[in-house]
Amino acid sequence: MNRLDPPNYFDDDAALDALALNRRLKCHPQFAAQVPAIKGGYAQYVAASGNAHSVANVALPEPIKAQLKALYASPSKELPHIDRIREQSDANCCPMCGSFHSGTLDHLLPKAVYPVFAIFSRNLVPACMCNSKRTEQVIGAADERILHPYFDDVLRERLFVARFEELGLAPRITLRPLLALGHPQAAAVRFHMTNVVERTSILRYLRTSWTNVLRRPSLAAAELRVTPASRQALADTITTELHRQDDTFGSRNNWRSVFLAGLLDNQTLDWLFAAFEMPGREQDGPLVDGIV
Ligand SMILES: [Zn+2]
Repeated sequence: MNRLDPPNYFDDDAALDALALNRRLKCHPQFAAQVPAIKGGYAQYVAASGNAHSVANVALPEPIKAQLKALYASPSKELPHIDRIREQSDANCCPMCGSFHSGTLDHLLPKAVYPVFAIFSRNLVPACMCNSKRTEQVIGAADERILHPYFDDVLRERLFVARFEELGLAPRITLRPLLALGHPQAAAVRFHMTNVVERTSILRYLRTSWTNVLRRPSLAAAELRVTPASRQALADTITTELHRQDDTFGSRNNWRSVFLAGLLDNQTLDWLFAAFEMPGREQDGPLVDGIV
């Protein structure tokens, strides 16, 4: 998950004007008559800051809806941004879920429901396979809604961390949201967490990461190959590694940071430090008995 700069290099209105003149469009010349309505939809989308509760859908004739979807599937020369945004998705972590995968484009407002935004640059977000795992549900009750990487600055903050309970070889692992319930975006973050992030394989990733740390602590942070001198030293090492991963992935909500920030919970730190101090444990050796 991450806040992204919108594709400012692309002029959507100019592209619509050019498409209106394109005689090769199946809908030519009817397309031109719908351009003002489509532009109006785009302007309202931006004015509503991509908030799925406030963006209004635009009623278009069926052939125009089909034309816009066909243009997305097979972009004409007026629409170079589609490939360009997709290529961007190779960098850093997925802006929608925080995974390290990429390679696809997500229609933030699904094109099946909002065909008017099928080729709109502000509605196209680089993403991973979470794109196909999330439902077409983009809003819930009241302020619950999907977050928008081009508009929601809250995505720059650390929004949730792993929570480990019943600590041991196989703890219970969940995601813990960090924003206080009174925060204006708290409901949106929780909705996004439930409807996008928790539908991915993040919990499996966190479980594997936990098992790896118990087996060989230096897999969490290289410095942990040496047993930390104190609980504070352990916390400092994990914090340093957390900031390193935030920086590496350009996001505080990449899955690695979600894992590391979860280790900084007081009870988890207590448990880990006691495990480091287990009598007879070798440097960088297992933190629990019976793990290989
Ligand atoms: Zn994703």
